[in-house]
Amino acid sequence: MKKIILQTSLTLFLFGILFFYPQQLNAKTIITEKDGCFYEIKVKIVFDFQYQLSQSETEKILTDWRKAMSGVWNGVFGSTILNDQCFVYYDFELVEMGKGKICNDYPEFHCISVIDDQFNSRNHLADATIVKANSFQNSWGEWTNQIEPLIAAHEVGHMMGLSDEYEYKIAGQEKDLVNLNYRKIGPQSIMAQTWGEVAAFKEHSLRILKLANIDIN
Ligand SMILES: [Zn+2]
Repeated sequence: MKKIILQTSLTLFLFGILFFYPQQLNAKTIITEKDGCFYEIKVKIVFDFQYQLSQSETEKILTDWRKAMSGVWNGVFGSTILNDQCFVYYDFELVEMGKGKICNDYPEFHCISVIDDQFNSRNHLADATIVKANSFQNSWGEWTNQIEPLIAAHEVGHMMGLSDEYEYKIAGQEKDLVNLNYRKIGPQSIMAQTWGEVAAFKEHSLRILKLANIDIN
């Protein structure tokens, strides 16, 4: 009897490894190395809309967010050029969660809630947990439908492993935002601010790759 139980548990264990584990191993931010030192960084996000909106409204929001993400990360301020020979391209796949579905139904996607409000439950406009590329971790967060699309471009930086490049300095009643990656000329870093002229830089792409254990010299 004991032997049967042992065998059954072992079978269930192996079954679990074969059929359950690979599902958990789907990376949601994937770096693919292509020929000629070319890297594609793909981020897949499913959005769980917590309020009623029409198909065209959903499409508009997701199109605006995707455009801002692609515009910033594939922009002309260095993020696509790693060195003389190495390049990177960013690809963002944004989909709407189907009716009656849950995050677990989308093992290959980061999962973000979208609410119809001014601020989310943590008093932010939007947030996303920091996860490294190729790490199989899921980023989650809550975004309001009123965010400027550039905020979506900032949040997706967290989904590729990057941290904030700003902090708040509190002096009495005043709360000032301090840019920790301040540039004297040209656009400011998208990880430092989400208004005005902003961009992603070569340093960001190199860090995203390095966090995924890919070192470019
Ligand atoms: Zn942030």
